[in-house]
Amino acid sequence: MTSSAASDHALIVGNWKMHGLVADAQDYSAEITALCQRQPLPHVALALCPPYPHLSLLLALLRDAAVSVGAQDCHTAEQGAHTGDVSAAMLADLGCVYIIVGHSERRQGYGESDALVQAKARAAQAQGLIPIVCIGETLAEREANQTLAVLERQLRGSIPAGALPENLVVAYEPVWAIGTGKVAQPEQVAEAHAHIRKVLISLDPELADVKILYGGSVKPDNAAVLMATRDVNGALVGGASLNPAHFYAIASAAEDAFRRNAA
Ligand code: PEP
Repeated sequence: MTSSAASDHALIVGNWKMHGLVADAQDYSAEITALCQRQPLPHVALALCPPYPHLSLLLALLRDAAVSVGAQDCHTAEQGAHTGDVSAAMLADLGCVYIIVGHSERRQGYGESDALVQAKARAAQAQGLIPIVCIGETLAEREANQTLAVLERQLRGSIPAGALPENLVVAYEPVWAIGTGKVAQPEQVAEAHAHIRKVLISLDPELADVKILYGGSVKPDNAAVLMATRDVNGALVGGASLNPAHFYAIASAAEDAFRRNAA
């Protein structure tokens, strides 16, 4: 965890991607609510980003749990002839808090550019939502020693001007660690996060306190080390967030790391 004010609490976000049917969402909500009520985590904010069809259901079912709901993407426009798309205005209207933008699966699978990611982040902020802007290098870029340059280019291109710590979260997700079981080493994470914070400050000193999440094969058995890493303010969790007990265990590791850091 960082020693900066970015660590007023940790943030653990689950990205369900394209997983889960209605019954799964119902069972999951009941289980995560019970876990959070049995042992609250006062220094961790939890959020789940299910597929669009489950947003309303989770918003209703998680009302009594301390779990926010977010979306996995949005369009840049407020409304219009964009078949298959969903606007930030619609997501805000439902009660979402976060929108993941620029996930590598969208950058790679749909050719999303930094400029498009920036426009989506701006659209989210305009609706009072908090974009979780994902950045991260590929394995080829890491092996070519380009990691820090790639992160800087993506950050400069993807962060909207005028962003504040209150309306921006950055997720460092090395592409080679997503869904692969290959987790970045704590030194690699610390180096990347320190660089991200430096670039954010160079964009605007006000951004010093932006939360920077780590994402990439975070599991209950590696969460303690990752959450205790300098400048890590939480996690964006894919696969492990599909299991409520695993998701809660990761959040619990963040709570422990937070307490140790504050002591
Ligand atoms: C992700 O897709 O954002 C992610 C971090 O996935 P996983 O945890 O499965 O690597």
